[in-house]
Amino acid sequence: MAYRSDSADPVLIVGSMALDSVRTPTGEVTDALGGSADYSSVAASFFSPVQIVGVVGDDFPKEHLRFLADRGIDLAGVRPISGGKTFRWAGYYDFDLNIAHTLDTQLNVFADFAPVLPDAYKDTKYVFLANIAPKLQLDVLEQVRNPKLTVCDTMNFWIEGARADLLKVLERVDIAFMNDAEARQLTGKMSTVKAAKEIQAIGPKTVIIKKGEHGALLFAGDEHFSAPSYPLEDIADPTGAGDSFAGGFIGFIASMDDLSPTTLRRGVIYGSVMASYNVEDFSLNRLRTLTERDIADRYRRFKEIAYFDALEEAVL
Ligand code: AMP
Repeated sequence: MAYRSDSADPVLIVGSMALDSVRTPTGEVTDALGGSADYSSVAASFFSPVQIVGVVGDDFPKEHLRFLADRGIDLAGVRPISGGKTFRWAGYYDFDLNIAHTLDTQLNVFADFAPVLPDAYKDTKYVFLANIAPKLQLDVLEQVRNPKLTVCDTMNFWIEGARADLLKVLERVDIAFMNDAEARQLTGKMSTVKAAKEIQAIGPKTVIIKKGEHGALLFAGDEHFSAPSYPLEDIADPTGAGDSFAGGFIGFIASMDDLSPTTLRRGVIYGSVMASYNVEDFSLNRLRTLTERDIADRYRRFKEIAYFDALEEAVL
């Protein structure tokens, strides 16, 4: 069975389109393709058609746009600004690869960006507000007409710098993604469980807490699901793990057009699969060669890792 069907529901994604300069213990890249919208769109495109809303400067290499278009991603919502500079992020990771240290964030063309959705995008049912200024996430929410599922992500930069707008986004979305440190930062709660409940109380019925290489937790109403961590021996670059997780998650859900608990759980595992592949190489490079067979193989491995036998009743 192929995962991707062009007749599946598309996913609308707004987020950063970036040139990243990243250093990790195993190497570095300068001005490489990155950005929350790029990672999440490419991950989602393995499952569903994707529509990106974003902005780039005229320094954004055409080959990156070609790569996105070749993956069937609709770029009608990408605005090129002539004379503008693309968003840039620079960061590094030490031996704790779960912690990204930001060296520099240059919003550039994103500083004055006001997204205007092409008409054809306004009825898209699946909407992912990837990590970008919460104000822009709100702008997109204002323009979509009747979404079936809205999902958001964010990061420490916006929790610190745009908290009031971020709370407005959280009041309106169905699902929020955060990593464990961001959930603690937002709520002031040390316990991940308490933090997730507090975020649920703000708005989203479902909260997904990513724990880097230690897996992910899904809190849906009172239900709880724990995705295992994948035993990857070599991580080249953790950048984009969260975005490819979210992209795989929402791409899969849109392809199923179903919001049942089982589909949400499977979505969390497909998200984990996409993130675990993404970190094997710098930038989006691993996703360039990824096949459906690779995805199916690793999904099976996740199932094996999480399996355990019940004790016989007689033993209890
Ligand atoms: P993550 O999945 O959390 O590792 O996201 C990494 C991506 O986030 C990088 O490719 C960056 O370009 C992008 N990024 C970093 N800072 C920001 C920011 N403040 N707003 C939007 N995107 C960002």
